[in-house]
Amino acid sequence: MNIQLAVKQGTNILKDKYIRSAKLDSEILMAKAIGKNREDFILNNDINLKHKNLQYFKRLILERATRKPIAYLLKKKFFWNNEFFVNKDTLIPRPDTEVLIEQILKYTKHKNKINILDIGVGSGCILLTILNEKKKFFGTGIDISKKSLDICKINAKKLQVETRIKLYKSDVDKFAQGKYDLIVSNPPYINKLKLKYLEKDVINFEPKLALDGGLDGLSEIRKVVKKSSELIKKNGKFVLEIGFDQKNKVINLLRNEGFYINSTLKDLAKNDRCIVSTKI
Ligand code: GLN
Repeated sequence: MNIQLAVKQGTNILKDKYIRSAKLDSEILMAKAIGKNREDFILNNDINLKHKNLQYFKRLILERATRKPIAYLLKKKFFWNNEFFVNKDTLIPRPDTEVLIEQILKYTKHKNKINILDIGVGSGCILLTILNEKKKFFGTGIDISKKSLDICKINAKKLQVETRIKLYKSDVDKFAQGKYDLIVSNPPYINKLKLKYLEKDVINFEPKLALDGGLDGLSEIRKVVKKSSELIKKNGKFVLEIGFDQKNKVINLLRNEGFYINSTLKDLAKNDRCIVSTKI
């Protein structure tokens, strides 16, 4: 069977499962199956597939048909300027989270050496991206999941920033090490009762630990705000990702812990997604 026909059949299988990006997904999985870039076979797609490549492609399509995210099938996700290793043990980096990167780079533009703490570091996409952009910055990442710290370590090596990062397995409540110029966090913030309404790709495959924000969605954010107010230096910046409907509540939490609100930012879908504040 040639590539074109296989991609078409793959697309149809995914369409039957109501996957909106069926054609793109089928092409991406073909690229993976034959070990080429998507661009490389799209113009040259009448060549015949080797049996083992076709089998591999079919397997990938059937997995995707269960709604397993493409990033988990490829074991990678592009974020900001780099490719990150990911697997089922960590949340897949979201384009929306790049808003936090923009803000951190903006507020640290004239800083030389600073210490950053990332609470719930996960794959490391936020902290490692910053360390990669700012070669003199130091980072500390904490996470309750040992498995996600292992992933973060792999990514730190990939981005060659491993000498400037420390990782600790810790609950946010229990961590009490150091003082930081900047703290960043993308904690779990989805209301427990609304988890079931997330897309199947998300809720059936991504770690609940990274999504579940308790009964009001704010239980982890509350802990992160409280802990950050203890661990941040005076005048330090705090950059936090939030749920689309949490802006006002989180602003109140921050003010109660002695933070001044610098700005709130929207994501690509124009939802409130990030709050930048300063410890006063
Ligand atoms: N933005 C993610 C989602 O909607 C949630 C991430 C989080 O809870 N921190 O799937």
